[in-house]
Amino acid sequence: MAARLLDGTAVAAQIRSEVRPAVDAFTARAGRPPGLGIVLVGDDPASQIYVGGKLTSAGEAGLRADLERLPADATLAQLLDSVERLNRSDAHDGILVQSPLPPDMGPDAERRVFDAISPDKDVDGFHPVNVGRLVQNRASLVACTPSGVIELLERSHIAIAGARAVVIGRSDVVGKPMALLLLHRHATVTVCHSRTVDLTRVAREADILVAAIGRAAFVTREFVKPGATVVDVGITRLSDRADVERLFPPGSKGRDTFARRGSVIVGDVHPDVADVAGALTPVPGGVGPLTIAMLLRNTLRAAEQRAGLAGQAGLAGEGG
Ligand code: NAP
Repeated sequence: MAARLLDGTAVAAQIRSEVRPAVDAFTARAGRPPGLGIVLVGDDPASQIYVGGKLTSAGEAGLRADLERLPADATLAQLLDSVERLNRSDAHDGILVQSPLPPDMGPDAERRVFDAISPDKDVDGFHPVNVGRLVQNRASLVACTPSGVIELLERSHIAIAGARAVVIGRSDVVGKPMALLLLHRHATVTVCHSRTVDLTRVAREADILVAAIGRAAFVTREFVKPGATVVDVGITRLSDRADVERLFPPGSKGRDTFARRGSVIVGDVHPDVADVAGALTPVPGGVGPLTIAMLLRNTLRAAEQRAGLAGQAGLAGEGG
């Protein structure tokens, strides 16, 4: 039987519809809309598309969203200046510096920039203060992608408490916060990575399997316990015909998209997993739309907290 598809687009729309009236209420009380400042360095095409999507969604939600662009050859000092200006700005409640940064900025540039963002404006949830609060289960600004996954699971009535959860991937932006959020909701959590021995066997123990690896179709049906919920965080663009034909049978949606666009977005989970899993997030249309919805919600939450109006959005706690 084919897995139930967990519709991230619908859940994201639901969250946005909750954010909009709360934004309007904030604007009425504070006399200004919640503000998001985005800094984009260089002209990486994918980053421009992501930032464009964030600006459009923020505008639709009634937020003020400002983009500051820096040239590809900007220095780290220039970028830190921009962050500092946004830290001081009364009109901006959230700050987002789009990743990745140009390699010339140096290997530790991202970390230095995230550390420089004021924790109360850290709508990405990457600042060590917010990560520490997440560890202690008292965070208010949590990384958008993993908190979006939790929203998707909860609103799809997937039981987390008591479940065996396996997260493949241990990045600071997805894997680690994902594991903590599941733990705080009383799952028994295992975190796997590139050195995990017998990954397939470990993954097959999961009632909830989260793949955040960045390798197209890596998780095959052998990784999945029949009936498990599988969350596919991965995003990889395939533009090689042979790769596409290996993954998708003739007449499938994947082949059709490739024929029209010359490339297709795939996740970390092989399409065949749909035959084994009980529930599955599609790619695209699963986790992706939730990331932006959670960014909007985090910006609203940061604005409320800064204005002393916290709690107005009816936002869920971090478990407990
Ligand atoms: P990342 O920083 O590259 O981390 C990848 C993780 O996967 C690492 O922990 C790595 O292990 C692990 N890994 C790599 N190869 C492995 C293997 N063969 N077996 C087991 N584990 C393996 O990536 P990320 O930033 O977490 O992102 C992961 C994926 O999610 C990417 O495709 C990214 O594009 C996507 N993503 C999507 C969204 C969204 O909105 N949907 C948001 C963020 C990211 P080691 O630590 O041992 O190297």
